[in-house]
Amino acid sequence: MNYQTSNTNQPEPTSPILDKTASLVTVPTELPVGPLLQIKPPATGEPGIGAAASPMELIDWGLEKFSDQPIVLTTSFGMEGCVLMDMCSKTIAAKQLGKLKVACIDTGFFFPETKQLRQKLIDRYPNLDFITWETPVSIEQQRHTYGDMLWKNNPNMCCNIRKVQPMRENIVHYRLWITALRRTQTKERSDIPVLGWDWRYELLKFCPLATWTRGDVWAYIQQHNVPFNQLHLQNYPSVSCFHCTRAVPGSSPDSEIRKGRWAGSDKEECGLHFSI
Ligand code: SF4
Repeated sequence: MNYQTSNTNQPEPTSPILDKTASLVTVPTELPVGPLLQIKPPATGEPGIGAAASPMELIDWGLEKFSDQPIVLTTSFGMEGCVLMDMCSKTIAAKQLGKLKVACIDTGFFFPETKQLRQKLIDRYPNLDFITWETPVSIEQQRHTYGDMLWKNNPNMCCNIRKVQPMRENIVHYRLWITALRRTQTKERSDIPVLGWDWRYELLKFCPLATWTRGDVWAYIQQHNVPFNQLHLQNYPSVSCFHCTRAVPGSSPDSEIRKGRWAGSDKEECGLHFSI
């Protein structure tokens, strides 16, 4: 079953072959690269690119390099995702590439401010194709089956139903997954590669902002007048579902913290990027 609510004509999933160690810097010619991925080392004299390149350079490289492959940028409309949308939109315009799919997993528990932001982004970036993935389990069905507060009593199960399963169902249609992860966000994210093979979903995972700090992200937002969630101005450093997100007094938009998500528990990840 496909839980995607829009976005038709996706290619059939296949099984690409790529070594886990493939990186932007070294892709040996002997690597068993499948025909779908078409990753080749730069020809002699061709300028290369490395993981130390700037996010904008990485996006320029990635969107062009994989322009004949299905690419998706996933977002929950955090500040980092908004930055990536701005950068991707600029690259698409400059290089006259096709629209990029931008997928959000709608849990049914978005803040009104998040919905307003989504509309602002749609209006601002016509060369991005905003799509929504969601669980077929309605909030009513979840309540009936698991009780009224699954997000409190078993948040891992709630995240699994409302986020992880829709991700699994839909990500199979893509070859390159662009995400807004940064290394300084959580300890699990501290060594994420800029580009690497994701064994859970079996595709290349691209993290152009891996080396940026939250301060870098906020500076870009301001410099380029990128839309962002207004809750960040109300002491919400990180915004997810309204059930599990709290303001953190004293925090600011450039605060490098994720406290306020699943407050009162040691849960730090929803399960989309790391097993929970
Ligand atoms: S963040 Fe909270 S409400 Fe949202 S899916 Fe996870 S547990 Fe459920």
